[in-house]
Amino acid sequence: MSAAWEVIIGLEIHAQLATASKIFSGASTAYGSEPNTQACLIDLGYPGVLPVLNREAVRMACKFGLAVNATVARRSVFARKNYFYPDLPKGYQISQYELPIVEHGELFITDGGEANGEPRRIGITRAHLEEDAGKSIHSIHEGLDRFSGIDLNRAGTPLLEIVSEPDLRSAREAVAYMRKIHSIVRYLGISDGNMQEGSFRCDANVSVRPRGQRELGTRTELKNLNSFRFVEKAINFEIERQIDVLEDGGDIVQETRLYDSDRNQTRPMRSKEEANDYRYFPDPDLLPVVIDDAYVEAVRATLPELPDAKRERFVAEYRLRNEDAGILTMSLALADYFEAATAAAAAKPGLVANWVIGELSAALNRDGIDIEASRVPPAGLAALVDRIADSTISGKIAKEVFDAMWAGEGSADQIIEAKGLRQITDAAELEGVVDAVIAQNPSQAAEYRAGKDKLIGYFVGQVMKATGGKANPAQVNALLKNKLTGGELSDGGGS
Ligand code: ADP
Ligand code: MG
Repeated sequence: MSAAWEVIIGLEIHAQLATASKIFSGASTAYGSEPNTQACLIDLGYPGVLPVLNREAVRMACKFGLAVNATVARRSVFARKNYFYPDLPKGYQISQYELPIVEHGELFITDGGEANGEPRRIGITRAHLEEDAGKSIHSIHEGLDRFSGIDLNRAGTPLLEIVSEPDLRSAREAVAYMRKIHSIVRYLGISDGNMQEGSFRCDANVSVRPRGQRELGTRTELKNLNSFRFVEKAINFEIERQIDVLEDGGDIVQETRLYDSDRNQTRPMRSKEEANDYRYFPDPDLLPVVIDDAYVEAVRATLPELPDAKRERFVAEYRLRNEDAGILTMSLALADYFEAATAAAAAKPGLVANWVIGELSAALNRDGIDIEASRVPPAGLAALVDRIADSTISGKIAKEVFDAMWAGEGSADQIIEAKGLRQITDAAELEGVVDAVIAQNPSQAAEYRAGKDKLIGYFVGQVMKATGGKANPAQVNALLKNKLTGGELSDGGGS
């Protein structure tokens, strides 16, 4: 990207709230049922029906507002946003417009790359409650032409739309921000954040302006991005596209675009509506939502320890590197796993953290499973790490043991015994191997003695090879140095 352009991004994130029933009806919000079995007359907006607000949705929105240090409105209002779309047959969506329930929040990102690890404040303009629409499904049926179906099960599902200030300055920052929101809603237990099922998705508003210019450039909106990777790729594509257009003397058209992940490009979907196209008006069927201080304080009392606080505690309590603490606290389940493992281990928390972030996370990724379903439980990992800490096995052999644990072959101790992986710490036994290796490599030994210190690594490698990796590396190093030089030389040389 050219240094002459500054990138401006604002995100609108839709988080589906984890209520059992819809925002204005008693219909179930469960995912994956037969199409059109979970939309009741209220969700469909039949004449004469009356919506009734789900109190859990309000509590969840309030919880979010408090978690991002926002103002929770004591009075907020539902409005009708009027438009027609096949997945919205009733012709309007109930949302909040002028008086949203949450305003003026903030969060901090540290891993967006723009501030050299310094936290950057990102403003949250507002978060409002609204209902979701249905879903259009386009498919090609065997032997038939293409057809489109409408599944209205999602209609009326409660959403929290979280709108950021245009404070983000790169695709990486946008992803860091989105991850932070994701982790906050999951910590709060107000959304499952499942991106495959569409429970957490975002629209990215992107513009560029000549560096130094104050006023914002014309933006485009990239709709319905449902993975962190797509958010990053779509925004980066869009930035390049806009810069190309502007550098060729063209203008950016304010429009909504769709990201095509197969082609890694964005293309126009529709020209952008203005707010006045929607003819918002207060929904006459719903009373304003009025809450008092006592209510807000009662909700505040239910706030859990949030990601930033947990990260700071991990650094202070376990002496972890800030970066590692950040990775471990991104997900509550991962943080809980680490704490359980470190409580069960005699080894230092730093070593446990390395294993959770390293081998364990890699294995989870490889098998595509969540930490909750880990094949090695926290106590199992703790036992393995303890065998490294007490020098029963080396870190390298531990990876082999871990793989066997992951494959269900038993506990760390069982596998170490069954496979005979215990480190050789017996001095006489190691000395024998070291002597043999030196004897088999006379020219390298001579070079080492002549000053080629780097060859120590070669010798260590040979000893490890001869012992199947089971020699204690520190002991081997000391023995080799001793034997290759110094007093031992004359003894060894004479034998
Ligand atoms: P709308 O309701 O039409 O989507 P908003 O004014 O509410 O528009 O803004 C939506 C999002 O777009 C917000 O996250 C905001 O920060 C962002 N945004 C607004 N103007 C720009 C711009 N010029 N460049 C990038 N993002 C922008
Ligand atoms: Mg928008």
